[in-house]
Amino acid sequence: MDFLKQMILDKGYIINNNILKVDSFLNHQVDFKLMNEIGLEFYNYFKDKNITKIFTIEASGIAPAIMTSYKFEVPMVILKKQTSSILNDDLYQTEVKSFTKNTTYNLTLSKKYISPNDNILIIDDFLANGEAAKGAIKLIEDAGASVAGIGIVIEKSFQPGRKILEDLGYDIYSLARIKSLENNKIEFVD
Ligand code: 5GP
Repeated sequence: MDFLKQMILDKGYIINNNILKVDSFLNHQVDFKLMNEIGLEFYNYFKDKNITKIFTIEASGIAPAIMTSYKFEVPMVILKKQTSSILNDDLYQTEVKSFTKNTTYNLTLSKKYISPNDNILIIDDFLANGEAAKGAIKLIEDAGASVAGIGIVIEKSFQPGRKILEDLGYDIYSLARIKSLENNKIEFVD
């Protein structure tokens, strides 16, 4: 997606060889035109998959996910990050290791917002080690629902997330794939 790649080159900020900041258009301030294009792009790729809901992980996945849910005309569900585990029959929970914070959180979903008939598209801002996506998959499958695919805005292809999720059999569509952040330079996969 050229519009996204150009925005990453113009406005992305390399923190170190492993982390890219995109606060000015995706994670803090949000570019509505870009989000609209992202929603359309995910819709075009996954439109024949009978998607019933869009799931995302708070907070940075919400902007691309809401535009995707608008294109599909299906609800978006936000998986919450709780600091402690809650024993409650109304919730699904699983522990996830945070890539950027080096801590863990409990990804949480109310049983009210999922049913075994759901066929769910997961949307997130970044793919690194695949931990957040694996957590979302676990909650969906614990509920007996299906994962239709995973849509990622920015994939860091030099980290193992894509391979791990592909080996598990999931369809991953990433709008920008970064090959390297080394030498303070952003390089994309061709
Ligand atoms: P994973 O779970 O795949 O290891 O990491 C993905 C999650 O970590 C995303 O939900 C995202 O919020 C965060 N993340 C991973 N890498 C980056 C990065 O380079 N920049 C930013 N801003 N967030 C990242």
